[in-house]
Amino acid sequence: MSRYLHPRFGSLEAYVPGEQPQEREYIKLNTNESPYPPAPRVVEALTKEQTEALRLYSDPTCGRLKESLAALYSVGPEQIFIANGSDDILNFAFMAFGAEGAVFPDITYGFYPVFAALHGVPYRENPLQDDFAVNYKEYLGLNKLIVIANPNAPTGLQLPVSQIELILKSNPDSVVVIDEAYVDFGGDSCLPLIAEYDNLLVVRTFSKSRSLAGGRLGYAFGSGALIADLEKLKYSTNPYNVNRLTQLLGIESVGAEDYYQEKCRAIIKTREKTAEELRNLGFTVTHSRANFLFARSPQIGGAALYRALKERGILVRHFDLPRIKDFNRITVGTPEQMAILLKTIRDIPKGEL
Ligand SMILES: *Cc1c(COP(=O)(O)O)cnc(C)c1O
Repeated sequence: MSRYLHPRFGSLEAYVPGEQPQEREYIKLNTNESPYPPAPRVVEALTKEQTEALRLYSDPTCGRLKESLAALYSVGPEQIFIANGSDDILNFAFMAFGAEGAVFPDITYGFYPVFAALHGVPYRENPLQDDFAVNYKEYLGLNKLIVIANPNAPTGLQLPVSQIELILKSNPDSVVVIDEAYVDFGGDSCLPLIAEYDNLLVVRTFSKSRSLAGGRLGYAFGSGALIADLEKLKYSTNPYNVNRLTQLLGIESVGAEDYYQEKCRAIIKTREKTAEELRNLGFTVTHSRANFLFARSPQIGGAALYRALKERGILVRHFDLPRIKDFNRITVGTPEQMAILLKTIRDIPKGEL
């Protein structure tokens, strides 16, 4: 740290992303990317002309992308916010709506406490139940910014939309952010509730189900007034936060809905099969509705399994947190990748367990 840094960031602890190794080829099951490439029309959209057009700024309104998303999800373009990944949107949400403090689960996406600290938002972490479920009753009548990933990460568990509706009803004076990064893998969406609740912000991403993690594209749905607040902060930060190429690929990707739905179905099928095989090996596996499994080995600690797999060329994610240190989060890859994962686990010598 230099002596020039503003003292309010002195104790800020930055988010630690999952490993993105550049030196060795791993079977990468650690950051919930799609194992499938973007749709062919997305891949083919990047022409020489598009690259040449990079001399021009991107459309700060993301107008065409908003229109294509509006048509796909039957909402108005003024109910959509677009930014550089959903992380960018969550950052703006904490900046915009955290005046009264924030509340989120103790085990969830690790970026929430970082955004809260960054913006000086005091926060409380509500413990998940012993079965890792979110207890909706702990979110009633708080009137603070409430942030819930649904399905949650890294547990994969989902809160019923009916319970989220109770949370929305009982917090009319604060914003409730539902982070639906994983909703396309079989979760139930809160999107229909935006018409009725002007305090609901539904946040989504192209990173997981639409195979565009490296493109950085996130979108959110909410009332026109909530979206206008976010736009104000975006235009006060970086109006061109979504680059030309990513906007183009986003539009093409919305047009390839059938392709992505098919890939999501494939991932769900692989998830269920892999979960069953892990359970057959004695693992405890949560009932994930996301594109990852959250699993505990009967013999080996989470950190030890992470290391054993890494030595053998497979990366999974381990969180060194008291309640979940025996677990690993394993991204659902292709059936072939999952077969290698299971064989590798079976072949770890007993001495290492
Ligand atoms: C991956 C993830 C994000 C971030 O997604 P980006 O759009 O790539 O920034 C947000 N929330 C949750 C719960 C995630 O797992």
